[in-house]
Amino acid sequence: MRTIGLIGGMSWESTAEYYRLLNELTRARLGGLHSARCVLHSVDFAEIEQLQVQGRWEEAGEVLAGAARSLEAAGADMVLLCTNTMHKVADQVGAAVTIPLLHLADATADAVRAAGLRRVGLLGTAFTMEQDFYRGRLAAGGLEVLTPGPEGRALVHRVIYGELCLGVVEEASRGAFREVIRGLVADGAEGIVLGCTEIELLVRPEDSPVPVFPTARLHAEAAVAAALA
Ligand code: GLU
Repeated sequence: MRTIGLIGGMSWESTAEYYRLLNELTRARLGGLHSARCVLHSVDFAEIEQLQVQGRWEEAGEVLAGAARSLEAAGADMVLLCTNTMHKVADQVGAAVTIPLLHLADATADAVRAAGLRRVGLLGTAFTMEQDFYRGRLAAGGLEVLTPGPEGRALVHRVIYGELCLGVVEEASRGAFREVIRGLVADGAEGIVLGCTEIELLVRPEDSPVPVFPTARLHAEAAVAAALA
C-alpha cells in the first residue's frame, strides 16, 4: 500500500472528512482492520484565507509547496491538496516535489465522464467559480461548465467561509443551495460539481434533481485507487 500525503486544514472540517473517507474506502477494499497509510500536513487556514483575499497567491503557494516537501520527506508517495480553491497554485505545489500531485479537477472530470455526463453546474468559492484555473481544467477534461449568476455565487461563497468552514451546517443554507442548484439545472446542467470540499457537508444527493459530484469523496476515491494499484 502506498502512502497518501494530505495538505489539509483548508478547512479542517473537510480534512477530517478526507481522513474518514480514506480509511473507510481502504477498509472497504481490503477488509478487516486495514486502514489508509497517510501523512497529513495541516496549515492554519486563517493565514491562507488572508493571503487569498489579498491576492497573494504566490506566497500562499510557497506555504503549500513547503507542506508538500514535508510530506515527501515524511515518506508520502503522492500529494493531495485538500481544497479546490488552492488548486489555483497546484502547479507551484506540484513542482516542489518529485512525487505526483493528484489534481482534484481531474478526479472530478473523470467521475463526471464515467457517469456519462458532460454539462455540469459548478458550486465553489468565488475564486473557483469565477477564475479559469479550475473551470479550465474541467473543460480540458471534456466538460462544459455552468456557474450560478452573481447572487447565487455570492451566497455560495458566503456560506462556505461564514458557515461550513466553521463547522456550521444550517438548514436555511441547504434550502438556499437547493434553489441555486435548481437554477443551474434549469440552465441545462446534467450534474452538479460540489467544487468546494466543504459543500458535501451540507448538500446531499437528495438535495439535487440531478447527480451531485462531491469533490472530497472523489479525491479520496482516486487516492485510495492509486494507493492500492
Ligand atoms: N475547501 C474549500 C475548497 O475546496 C474552500 C476553502 C479554501 O479556500 O481553500 O475550495
